[in-house]
Amino acid sequence: MKPTSSTGNRPLTLAERLRRINGAALGISITIMVVITILGALTVNLLSLVDANRVQTRVLAENAAASLLFGDEKAALDLLASLRHSPDARAAVIYDGDGRPFARYQSTTAIRINDQVRLREYTDYGLTTVRLTQPITMEGRTLGAIQIAIGLRSLYAQMLVLILITALAAALALLASRMLMTRLGTLVIRPVADLTELMGRVTQDADLGVRAGDADLLEINTLARGFNGMLEEIQERDRRLGRQKEHLEEEVATRTFELLQAKEAAEAANRAKGEFLATMSHEIRTPMNGVLGLTELLLNTPLDARQRRYAETAIQASRQLLSIIDDILDFSKAESGHMHLELLDFELTALVRDCVKLFHESAAGKGLKLSMDFSPADRPLWFQGDPLRLRQVVTNLLSNAIKFTHQGEVQVRVEVDRVSGQADTIVLMVKDTGIGIAAEAREKIFDRFAQADGSTTRRYGGTGLGLAISNRLVELMGGSLSMQSTPGQGSTFIVHLKLQASDGPAVSEHLPDGIAPARDSHDIGTLAGRILLVEDNPVNQLVAGSMLEQLGLRYSIANNGKEALSMLDAIKADLILMDCRMPVMDGYQATAAIRRGRVSGYRDVPIIALTANTSKQEQQHCLAAGMQACLSKPHTLRQLHDILQPWLPAGGGPAMGGAEAALSPESPDDGPLLDPRTLAELRSLNESTGHHLLIKVFQAFLDTAPSLAEQIKTAVAAEDAESLRRAAHALKSSSGNVGAMRLANICRQLEACARDQRMDAAGRLLGEFQPLSHATLDEISHRIRAAT
Ligand code: ADP
Repeated sequence: MKPTSSTGNRPLTLAERLRRINGAALGISITIMVVITILGALTVNLLSLVDANRVQTRVLAENAAASLLFGDEKAALDLLASLRHSPDARAAVIYDGDGRPFARYQSTTAIRINDQVRLREYTDYGLTTVRLTQPITMEGRTLGAIQIAIGLRSLYAQMLVLILITALAAALALLASRMLMTRLGTLVIRPVADLTELMGRVTQDADLGVRAGDADLLEINTLARGFNGMLEEIQERDRRLGRQKEHLEEEVATRTFELLQAKEAAEAANRAKGEFLATMSHEIRTPMNGVLGLTELLLNTPLDARQRRYAETAIQASRQLLSIIDDILDFSKAESGHMHLELLDFELTALVRDCVKLFHESAAGKGLKLSMDFSPADRPLWFQGDPLRLRQVVTNLLSNAIKFTHQGEVQVRVEVDRVSGQADTIVLMVKDTGIGIAAEAREKIFDRFAQADGSTTRRYGGTGLGLAISNRLVELMGGSLSMQSTPGQGSTFIVHLKLQASDGPAVSEHLPDGIAPARDSHDIGTLAGRILLVEDNPVNQLVAGSMLEQLGLRYSIANNGKEALSMLDAIKADLILMDCRMPVMDGYQATAAIRRGRVSGYRDVPIIALTANTSKQEQQHCLAAGMQACLSKPHTLRQLHDILQPWLPAGGGPAMGGAEAALSPESPDDGPLLDPRTLAELRSLNESTGHHLLIKVFQAFLDTAPSLAEQIKTAVAAEDAESLRRAAHALKSSSGNVGAMRLANICRQLEACARDQRMDAAGRLLGEFQPLSHATLDEISHRIRAAT
């Protein structure tokens, strides 16, 4: 964009501007001078013309006195005729004593003659003529007058010449001034233009190294020196800024390094804290489980009243201690960001009812009315969320309400507002008529370790962690926890949540294609034949082996595909149950080798896949590898029977199984550590075969699980996805078989993370996995001890 002047026109260069100023000044002064010169010359010439002719007029007046006295017209005419030698006299008239023409002379007729004049001396100025009148006197007597008309043509001719000369002079002056301006341009404008060009280089090319040279003009020199000084100042500033920037960068790098170190130290400390808490809680839980289990056993022995009271108090104290440890662990998880919520389908009214049920006894013991109310009522309300954690919140609020209420009632109210197309709004209120909370304590009770006042611990106990954990959990769920309270009258704790409604669980979804849901176990008949069970996991070997026995089948075990191939050479098998993922040689490779005829006589043997993966792709993968069908683990006796039945002849009678319960392949995290239905299943197998199967299965689990858990931990730390996948897969399988569904579930998630290379997510899951695996191991050791 070109710079514009304030009037909007292009700004002029200095040279142009100077030229214009100079032209205007010169033009005006020359014009004034010319006008004055011409007018002056005109005046002077006119006056000298008049003077010269006045003298001539006087001479003629003296000479004409005699002819007028004697009335001699001829002499008068002769006298006037002498004027013909005077170039300017155009006409002359002698007037008599009455002022009338007496004699006249005219060089041209174009000139007018006055008929009457005054008899005295005067001058009439006209544009083309000047008339001079002179009285004619003799001895003091006026005889008449003479008037001469002088033409101004010659005067004007002189003036014209003068104007031409003046114009020529003006033109010469203008020319000279232009030449002078050009010279001035070199002297003044060139240094200014040079300076301007230099500035352009500085701004356009950012070349601060240029300097303006000396000029002849003082002002320009001063300007150039100022300009040079300014450039030096800018260069110096640039240098200083550069040095500061370098220093700043160094400082930022140092600070960033320090911060990183501090962050890593903090993270390490946090990790160490989390691990310490997990280990501690595990270390405390193990002996606590011992105390609890043994005290329970003690209570089943004959005791006197005092001993029973002591034992019961010991149990109560141990349970309290366990719950405090759980709180501390939960809180440290929430603090270190290791608390992760599940997304499972759950039914809200059943969840709340279960929680309320837990407190029936304690409320009744204090004489409190405990009620609940749902809006909408009498309708199942299915949602997606984390039921275990929501239950924790409701239980905590209810426990506080009952703890801090001595008379009256505790009400639970659930209001669900269904908004089509959006998440539903849930308001869950726990209202009591208890001691209430003073206004100043209301803010801090959601803080960790905070209680309404110092006497609370003494009177009611508690750690002050419950509300802090609940608050954090509700926040993690995207909701809010608030409360209203009047001291002495009661409190209301309100949970606001937005949860996505769900259609409830799909009933037959988990069953693989072609497998009918379990029927009554009494229908299960026996089968005849010999099975080769190819399975690397000792727990799975025990479970599947016991089920095969129960179905009346004989079986041999191979620990991997390679072993299976070599065993088939030696033994006779009517069917192969093939685990898919195994070390050395997996189930797919072994099946492919059998189908290629690697072992003679077995090319067409039925092979049933055993897989922990329930997906359709996995089933297709198995069928594509040449297997006949696919059974997902964990499976029921019924499912095993039904999948084997088409391939084997019937045996001699009903299977020895007891009541059959479906093993849920996936378990939500809100269940007990060990699924009672799985345990019942294992126990029933145990009874029927006469072996201590449950204990053996548990023992096998204890033999393998700790090292698998260790492998998982190491693999996550080393970000070794393949090792993580293998270890998580193996532990998932064993956990499913002992009914440790929560552990199996988290192993499934770890396996999925490893498969998708999401090692950071696996790292996060590890925070939950470790305490859960410790707790499951504790639980199993405890059960073994209790049973032996
Ligand atoms: P605590 O384990 O001490 O119960 P919480 O975090 O659950 O810890 O509660 C913190 C404090 O808030 C309690 O110690 C008590 O002073 C106050 N509080 C909680 N619920 C109630 C209630 N329903 N009525 C009166 N005070 C309550």
